[in-house]
Amino acid sequence: MPSSPFLIVAIDGGAASGKSSTSRTLSERFHLLHADTGSYYRAVTAELLRRHVTPEDINGVEAALAAVTFTTRVTGRNAEIELSGHTIPDTEIRSAEVTAHVARFAAIPAVRAALLDYQRGQADTARRDGFRGLVMEGRDIGSKIFPDADFRFFLFADPVERARRREQQGLQDQVAKRDTLDSQRLQESLQGAVLIDGTHLTLAEVVDTIAAPIAAKFASA
Ligand code: C5P
Repeated sequence: MPSSPFLIVAIDGGAASGKSSTSRTLSERFHLLHADTGSYYRAVTAELLRRHVTPEDINGVEAALAAVTFTTRVTGRNAEIELSGHTIPDTEIRSAEVTAHVARFAAIPAVRAALLDYQRGQADTARRDGFRGLVMEGRDIGSKIFPDADFRFFLFADPVERARRREQQGLQDQVAKRDTLDSQRLQESLQGAVLIDGTHLTLAEVVDTIAAPIAAKFASA
């Protein structure tokens, strides 16, 4: 009997485009490890803010990065980042302060370089823990982290709708401003990806659209 393939699914898209809910649901449906790389950039940002490092202080950023180690705690199907052995509470990484700073820190090459191999390593974590694959969401997953992913999707949603979603969640977020800071990465990850406009779709409809080819690939193995 042929063994089931190990599939890597890349989901990129702008702020509040529905990546996390979609990725989480896919991870449940197919037993994939879920890696939310936005939470990794947020954790690094929280750590830098704790150390009072500013995005202008590149030496300070590099020194802080050299002082921490990145490991993973798998909780259910979620691959959480640990900084020097500790996770950072969700309340802190989703705070208004981290949200306001994260795109600036994420634009620093040393920050991106520090997380590159760590993110790629999540495929090994998923294999080791017996998952059928990895669903990784972010801004550069299909372009930089896993350009050879089995599936590359780009989730789009109208900025007005996205701002409304954040408000409904009771979160302060300048969605359009973050997209501007993230725009180069977003453009690159859009190239060659399957574009899904979720503005007028429910979560279930977005998930079903993405899940269909994944299910077909598992079934054909
Ligand atoms: O996905 P989320 O909105 O939580 O991501 C927070 C920020 O992290 C983004 O606005 C972006 O600046 C940065 N990010 C990134 N590359 C990724 C994931 C997130 O630059 N792969």
